[in-house]
Amino acid sequence: KVKDYQFMLRLKQPAGELPPDLYRLLDDLSAKHGQGDLRATTRQCFQMHGILKGGLKTVISSIMNIGSSTVGACGDVNRNVMTTPAPFKTPEYEYAREYSKVFAHLFRPMTPAFTEIWLDGEKVATAEVWGKEVEKFNVDEVMKYDSGRGIILDHPVEPLYGDRYLPRKFKIGVTVPGDNSLDVYTNDIGVVVITNDAGELEGFNVMVGGGMGRTHNKETTFARAADHMGFVPKEDIMECLKAILAAQRDHGNRDVRANARMKYLVHTLGIDNFRTLVESYFGKKIQPWREMKEWKYNDWMGWWEQGDGKLFYGLHVDNGRVKDEGTFRLKTALRVIADRYNLPMILSPTQSIIFKDIEPKDKEGIEAVLAEHGIKPLEEVDPLNRLAMACPALPLCGLAQTEAERIIPSYLERVRALLNKMNLADEEILIRMTGCPNGCARPYMAELAFVGDGPKSYQVWLGGSPVLTRTAWPFKAKMDVDDLEATLEPILAMFVAQRQEYEAFGDFCHRVGAETIERYMESYNSV
Ligand code: SF4
Repeated sequence: KVKDYQFMLRLKQPAGELPPDLYRLLDDLSAKHGQGDLRATTRQCFQMHGILKGGLKTVISSIMNIGSSTVGACGDVNRNVMTTPAPFKTPEYEYAREYSKVFAHLFRPMTPAFTEIWLDGEKVATAEVWGKEVEKFNVDEVMKYDSGRGIILDHPVEPLYGDRYLPRKFKIGVTVPGDNSLDVYTNDIGVVVITNDAGELEGFNVMVGGGMGRTHNKETTFARAADHMGFVPKEDIMECLKAILAAQRDHGNRDVRANARMKYLVHTLGIDNFRTLVESYFGKKIQPWREMKEWKYNDWMGWWEQGDGKLFYGLHVDNGRVKDEGTFRLKTALRVIADRYNLPMILSPTQSIIFKDIEPKDKEGIEAVLAEHGIKPLEEVDPLNRLAMACPALPLCGLAQTEAERIIPSYLERVRALLNKMNLADEEILIRMTGCPNGCARPYMAELAFVGDGPKSYQVWLGGSPVLTRTAWPFKAKMDVDDLEATLEPILAMFVAQRQEYEAFGDFCHRVGAETIERYMESYNSV
């Protein structure tokens, strides 16, 4: 019997942008060649599951020919560059969007192998569309960085990556001061736009060494929040990012794959030595980090004014799954909106979807389409669901050790019931779940996380920040699915009894620490 091999295919959508034509194409392709739904990921792109081997060439070439791409969505290269999804028309936000696309362009793999395999070597629309996209920012200016001081390898195809590419995947996030909607501290490089009072770009604060993936029972692997490396003037930012990438390319661990992410290099050297290493490629000193306003987390859901007379609307999507199921017909609703209003979309870092450039007169019509297709208005979405994320896990991910996306709704219901019981009904706790320690849904940043470690079993993590600036710590090594209430109730009781005014759950756990919580649990359980 011949096996039916099936694949997951992920797009690369810098800044999460998705024109309506591309959405229509993905909608059609997922119905014809995939399992019928689409999955918005935690890195602002769509992925399709269940593409049979025979359909791969059609699907990939269709995506490339419409001007999008899958190149670099996986692999040991720079992955999709993320940015805050809020499409505000302010200088800061525009710089963040624009530079995220420029960085994506700068670090794209240049090998023609992809087009040779999937397009029989034909030139595709992608390059041209990219060219136009980036042209606004002076594409010549960007491309001149394809040659430069000491960083470039003598390689005919990949002057930055060389013939071995990077030791491991590489992630970049770009945002504005105060907006941590993208989990910027989880990236290999986090870039923050710094403007002056007149809104002119001065440069960027750059952080390095974030990353989520770890392996159970292997203490040499760990989740890590990025360190502040310093400030870089705008004219030097390309060269500085190339220097960081080159430092990882040449000094990252290529012997042990589990320790190959740049976070381990930063951790091993320490941020000061890492900065010195980067400066040796960069050829300049990196300036001190510029003070910025405090971080906030906002998912940008609901209705907002863009700043140019138009609106944007953030549509919450549970775990990014765009599907039709019974009276809940999200996929059809999105297609109706795409066809009727021709609106561009932005995928959010928390697996939801933002429609931008909406004429205010269309607001009611869009709300009506959503209601007609069984989509709850935002006010009716439980804040726990709105804040939560889960990875696909079983049955879609080969690395999954247990459930995540399919089981998280029941977990959230159980946590909701517990919060109500403990008089914490108004509490908003950021909960994340993954089916294995790889951490695709960034669980180690959450206030409360469940990380799969075997059938029906999860590690429990506590103490992440509600504004996503530090990692949590493992509180319980193995929690059976049935023990959720018994595990959480004492912790919530302690939170009720000992929290400081306005203290968030994650901040509380971080302040009191594991040992104090364990002692409290013992006394709580013995009463
Ligand atoms: Fe798969 Fe693990 Fe990533 Fe979940 S966290 S999608 S189970 S690799």
